[in-house]
Amino acid sequence: MAGAAATPCGRLHAVQARIARAVAEAGRDPAAVRLLAVSKTFGAAVVGGLAACGQREFGENYVQEALEKQAVLRDVSLVWHFIGPIQSNKTRAIAEHFSWAHSVDRLKIAERLSAQRPAGLPPLQVCIEVNVSGEASKGGVSLAELPALAEAVAKLSGLQLRGLMAIPAPTPDVVEQRVAFRQVREQFDALRARGYALDTLSMGMSGDLEAAILEGATIVRVGTALFGERTKNA
Ligand SMILES: *Cc1c(COP(=O)(O)O)cnc(C)c1O
Repeated sequence: MAGAAATPCGRLHAVQARIARAVAEAGRDPAAVRLLAVSKTFGAAVVGGLAACGQREFGENYVQEALEKQAVLRDVSLVWHFIGPIQSNKTRAIAEHFSWAHSVDRLKIAERLSAQRPAGLPPLQVCIEVNVSGEASKGGVSLAELPALAEAVAKLSGLQLRGLMAIPAPTPDVVEQRVAFRQVREQFDALRARGYALDTLSMGMSGDLEAAILEGATIVRVGTALFGERTKNA
């Protein structure tokens, strides 16, 4: 990239324009799709730079790294989303320091997050991560186990179940991208038909956000297209 597009605000505007084009192509309401800036491996100064361009919602994968940035940026009004795999020993920090967790995929983790959510805060906003690619090594609940997990998570008072999140196996093939996202949307629609008040489909990243928006994404999680390539292995 060159010129204005390579500045933080230029990259933000370029991603916003990609989202706007996909929203228009899908015939959807522009207000229905939000951008979550995925800032893992980038420091507080970089996050602050994008915040200065108007970006408010940031996604982080590593608890300790996120807490350090939150401390530096405590005077900036930002909304923090946890999007990485959740280990049991990290649930308390997530419950105390984030507004959202997108990657809930086990009841034990959901119960800990709920119990550890401080009483003075609104419920932690959560998505259940679903594994549409069927890869055993990847995070996410299987489609078969999703209904039971959703039923249990919806009952936890410290959490508000907002919807589903997915990270399909990367592919450059837009048709394949859409097939995977459509499976997530179908699960979402099925849960809504059963009476769950869900409004969030967290899907789509730098390489496939258009396909995700065409299939109904309401939050796209974008890192590389906003911040450039990550140098750390993450
Ligand atoms: C890193 C990450 C992203 C962003 O990926 P890019 O391809 O850099 O846009 C989105 N979601 C999750 C869960 C991630 O870990």
